[in-house]
Amino acid sequence: MIQVKGYAALEAHAPLAPFAFERREPGPHDVQIEILYAGICHSDLHQAHADWGAKIFPMVPGHEIVGRVVAVGAHVTKLKVGDYAGVGCMVDSCRQCAACHDDLEQYCEQGATLTYNDIERDGTTPTYGGYSDQIVVEERFVVHIPDTLDLQGAAPLLCAGITSWSPLRHWAVGAGQKVGVIGLGGLGHMGVKFAKALGAHVVMITTSPEKGKDAERLGADEVLISTDADAMAAQADSFDFLLNTVPVAHDVNPYLLLLKRDRTMCLVGALEELTPRAQRHQRHPRPQEPRRVGDRRHGRNAGDDRFLRRAWHRQRCGSGRDPGCEHRLGPPREE
Ligand SMILES: [Zn+2]
Ligand SMILES: [Zn+2]
Repeated sequence: MIQVKGYAALEAHAPLAPFAFERREPGPHDVQIEILYAGICHSDLHQAHADWGAKIFPMVPGHEIVGRVVAVGAHVTKLKVGDYAGVGCMVDSCRQCAACHDDLEQYCEQGATLTYNDIERDGTTPTYGGYSDQIVVEERFVVHIPDTLDLQGAAPLLCAGITSWSPLRHWAVGAGQKVGVIGLGGLGHMGVKFAKALGAHVVMITTSPEKGKDAERLGADEVLISTDADAMAAQADSFDFLLNTVPVAHDVNPYLLLLKRDRTMCLVGALEELTPRAQRHQRHPRPQEPRRVGDRRHGRNAGDDRFLRRAWHRQRCGSGRDPGCEHRLGPPREE
């Protein structure tokens, strides 16, 4: 076994403390990495606080891992000793199911093995993450990091980076499109940089003018302050894609109004509650059918349009009952 030093939460909410543990010797398909950098992902905080149910303590967080390969198994072909390597959120999967065959192990039908706070496929060994000095991972869950990349900057690509990159690629964001990034945390700042690099016109959508300035430094072309009703109304029906990175339950309707017809908002924040409307709106009548979050396909019939306008209005004036409110956008459009 390999002796490893790390930092672990010994129980929920405990501050991280030095923790010694063992990892397996590299097998024929394994890569042993000396860890040089590990990003701090917001989910590390949630996991260490046992916010998400499953919890295995002691817990060594960290799934944005960059380091140097120090040993490889006999059958490893992708990496060699001395290469820089990265490990993200998963370290294994069933390797048998349709998702795994399609190289989409994050959708493994049996559940991927997460980099920490999980159990290896042997059913007994806990996984420990990147807040440690060594890790051993099967080569298919290791990426090669080019020597030309700044290693510190590369680490967050392994979680925040792929989380924002993946939807931008999936929905083919590129030149000629207007793309909104909602929220400027770890995901949002990656989203702004990627969308800009892909050639889109990038709008930072935030409640904070300060963060707007940061976003402009990162490449955003415009800033839209989401609490400014007039500014939001002025950009209604104009976006090709929205990357919503807000990590708490929130009313998505004001953002959906920004989209052109048939366009998409993708939610990537780790929401604890995924409903179209936050609980605080429950006193208002709900629509007959739940809206499909992230898809405005059904947003153009008159009933839905009225609902969207009421939701917008409620967001602005708080009650939604006062037809004379200055925020009122007017009657629903006739189709
Ligand atoms: Zn993460
Ligand atoms: Zn699978």
